[in-house]
Amino acid sequence: MKEVGTNPIDRLAAARIAPRCTAKAKSTGLRCEAPAVRERRVCRCHGARGGAPKGAGNGAFRHGLYSGEAIEARREVRALFIAAREMLAHL
Ligand SMILES: [Zn+2]
Repeated sequence: MKEVGTNPIDRLAAARIAPRCTAKAKSTGLRCEAPAVRERRVCRCHGARGGAPKGAGNGAFRHGLYSGEAIEARREVRALFIAAREMLAHL
């Protein structure tokens, strides 16, 4: 992105060419078009930087079976299992 100086006219011009929010209204089907948060595709009103708390801090958390770490661990075990089965098939 172009470096922006302190000149208010420059800053306004930069804001005009800034990437726009890609969120779409259900009611009208039109895009939000507000300036997107830096490095994001949506504006501050449409969930840039948002997200639910992780782990037990999340209200829907019950036992951790579907936590990111648990899902990742199962994925690794499954990959290992498939690799082992493939290896045994080639013996
Ligand atoms: Zn938006």
